[in-house]
Amino acid sequence: MKEYGGFEQGPIRPPSEASSLLIRVNRNCPWNRCTFCSIYKKKKFSLRPVDDVLQDIDTIRRFVDAIHEGRPGSRPEMLSPGDGQAFNAARNWVADGMESIFLQDADGLVIRPENLLKILRHLKELFPQVKRITSYARSESVARIDDGMLAEIAAAGLNRIHIGMETASDRILEMVRKGVTKEIHITAGLKVKRAGMELSEYVLTGLGGQEFSQLHAVETADALNRINPDFIRFRNLHLPERVTLFPGNEDHRYQWAPDLVQAREILTLIEHLDGITSRIKSDHNYNLLQEIDGILPDDKERLMQPLRTFIGMAPEQRVLFQVGKRSGHFVHLSDMGISGRTKQVKDICQQSGITPDNVDRRLYEIIQERMRSGMPY
Ligand code: SF4
Repeated sequence: MKEYGGFEQGPIRPPSEASSLLIRVNRNCPWNRCTFCSIYKKKKFSLRPVDDVLQDIDTIRRFVDAIHEGRPGSRPEMLSPGDGQAFNAARNWVADGMESIFLQDADGLVIRPENLLKILRHLKELFPQVKRITSYARSESVARIDDGMLAEIAAAGLNRIHIGMETASDRILEMVRKGVTKEIHITAGLKVKRAGMELSEYVLTGLGGQEFSQLHAVETADALNRINPDFIRFRNLHLPERVTLFPGNEDHRYQWAPDLVQAREILTLIEHLDGITSRIKSDHNYNLLQEIDGILPDDKERLMQPLRTFIGMAPEQRVLFQVGKRSGHFVHLSDMGISGRTKQVKDICQQSGITPDNVDRRLYEIIQERMRSGMPY
């Protein structure tokens, strides 16, 4: 048998899993062809040996016990490569209350179901207090698992799946090489729900560019209406300029969708949501309007309000919010009422020559520059 390679963690998790222990069940993405996604580019997908994952879990248990028993600041013995990382992960998890676990990387459901069951049962055995075990999954992988097995996986403890729907427009899905169709998204979503798991669907606004913005909104709303996921989460698309989003489509060159286009897109999408009870969130720092947060159907009007406010603003006011949000002076629209901050944003606009006529181009350039230098944007 191959020697244990040591504790590992992957690069990302959803923002809502900030307090979760990260357990890596496989490395990178088995698909890795979406044109808009650079996270795992040039990294090869591989399954981790299930025994290694079980040993990672044992290692975390050992460190959690040591932390509970030990003196503050003392470090237990490090036995394997990656133990330092495991100790830090255990310490953070203890501090966060040890309630949730996130299985990495991009698709936790691509591994053999019997191996996934082993991992889940081991987690539940060693950490019976855990309330939530979650994973990213591709719709394609979920759709391939039969309902009985999915119910077994749910019973073993996997109780929330995060799916990157991005869009449900077949046209855009094909152009961005997502490798799924609207029907597969719907099949997978309904399967997750039938298995009794919570479902979080991510929508990538701006993915259709300017040309397909409204198609993206309407088709995506239609799929979401048929699924009724527990969560719908928006992500505003920001792409490095070098990326060709629609390769091989000479007639449809991607035209970046600025804030106003994306705001109209989200408004159309929410307007078209009907007959569902999902919670809608815009829970990423890079999103323009993070105050979009509510539960359908009761909050529908409230969810649309920030979008209508932004769209209806005088151009000079809209520029102030766009620049204030991207420069970190504002988080919410209501922050524009803080006169000191608004004054600072006005100064930025004046010094940088940002006006309603050039704001989208200037912000695009600033975001590109930040992406190149690895800064948050
Ligand atoms: S499936 Fe997800 S992780 Fe993989 S390339 Fe597409 S967006 Fe990226």
